[in-house]
Amino acid sequence: MRRPLIAGNWKMNGSTALVKAFGDAFAAARLPAGVDVVVIPPFPYLETARQAFRNTSLKLGAQTLNPQPSGAHTGEVSGSMLQEFDVAYVLVGHSERRQLYQETDEQVFDRLMAALASGLTPILCVGETLEERDAGHTMDVVLGQVEYVMSRLEPAQRSEVVIAYEPVWAIGTGRTATPEQAQEVMAGIRSYQASFDAVLAEQLKLLYGGSMNANNAAELLAQPDIDGGLVGGASLKTDDFHAICQSA
Ligand code: 13P
Repeated sequence: MRRPLIAGNWKMNGSTALVKAFGDAFAAARLPAGVDVVVIPPFPYLETARQAFRNTSLKLGAQTLNPQPSGAHTGEVSGSMLQEFDVAYVLVGHSERRQLYQETDEQVFDRLMAALASGLTPILCVGETLEERDAGHTMDVVLGQVEYVMSRLEPAQRSEVVIAYEPVWAIGTGRTATPEQAQEVMAGIRSYQASFDAVLAEQLKLLYGGSMNANNAAELLAQPDIDGGLVGGASLKTDDFHAICQSA
């Protein structure tokens, strides 16, 4: 009932050649019907990707956006610019943005609003650090990040948001959350959402991210509240990414 979504976040990786390799591989490859697959390359590759993905079912995403529509913001990119390149999804609040660029919940919210204003589907990323998990604060941290944004939205806006739970300690470490650990947090997010609206909660798309790969994807995606994946390292290889898509 919830359509699975697999998104590959290339982060600051890739090349024109890799974009073209994905275009070729996915034009030839079969994907399960009913699965949305998104590639999220760095900004400079969006136009090449738009062209290279034309004969595929791959959709395009971006890694961030500026909250403002235009203006004196050197180095930044707005939602309407992304829209011009057929970008359909945009990440907001990725832990690397929160940690390396000090993005606050308020800034994450502003970016998410800018995404909605430009007709982009925001993928709101949330997750706890290892210290927070070890201190028993996982649900407080994750629900705090979710609540900051979701409680400020109108119901129609909430229904547009995809949430990715990415435990910080599982990102790029090879240490995946167990399916049970991931499911527990996902169920918590969904039941929080149900406090606003039970129907919306059932429709809310929840992705797992953090060292997802071709070997562990099926088990994670089989959990009742995990509707897809946000894949980092394993989204940089056509075969690995395709195998993850096949598991959805
Ligand atoms: P890895 O899959 O490399 O752990 O990265 C996950 C991630 O941060 C995706 O946004």
